[in-house]
Amino acid sequence: MRSSPNIIITGTPGVGKTTHCEQLASSTGLTHLNVNKVVKERDCEDGFDDELNSVIVDEDKLLDAIEPDLEAGGQIIDWHACDMFPQSLIDLVVVIRCNSTILYDRLKGRGYSDKKLDENMDAEIMEVLLQEARDSYDEEIVVELQSDDLDQIDENLERIQTWIENWKKDHSEA
Ligand code: ADP
Repeated sequence: MRSSPNIIITGTPGVGKTTHCEQLASSTGLTHLNVNKVVKERDCEDGFDDELNSVIVDEDKLLDAIEPDLEAGGQIIDWHACDMFPQSLIDLVVVIRCNSTILYDRLKGRGYSDKKLDENMDAEIMEVLLQEARDSYDEEIVVELQSDDLDQIDENLERIQTWIENWKKDHSEA
């Protein structure tokens, strides 16, 4: 039985996942599980997609690597996919969203290729991650939060922190 919840923070690249995760980890003491880092450090790479200029992830290996942490609880998972994590180990799925004009500027600033930029813009406009979250988890644990400006980050963090406190209260009484 976990004494701290596991939360997925997901969304299209550039929407603000890492920004949210870092601040949440520092304000709540939960662990920021940066999947990009785990993939590199735990050798979960399964080749390289030259066209998209990004690593292909061996999801089975990744899951084996992080499953003990998820079983222990208190993980904030930072990743642009969410359907590979076992439902039984996930307590909340936050899908971060961003206005497409703002997202375009953020991704352009990262120096993405046109192809990568187009793919990610399409994914955000088509709500790919929101749909993936809704298809993979109970609808009551999926939350969509907007991250266009700094005020929205503060609002989102407050909301998630309150949710964590309530989760802990509910689960300590059981
Ligand atoms: P992701 O982890 O989803 O790829 P990041 O957290 O790295 O996104 O954010 C991408 C960029 O956008 C960073 O430069 C970050 O500072 C900025 N950013 C993210 N969210 C906001 C926001 N709500 N308001 C202003 N800038 C933001």
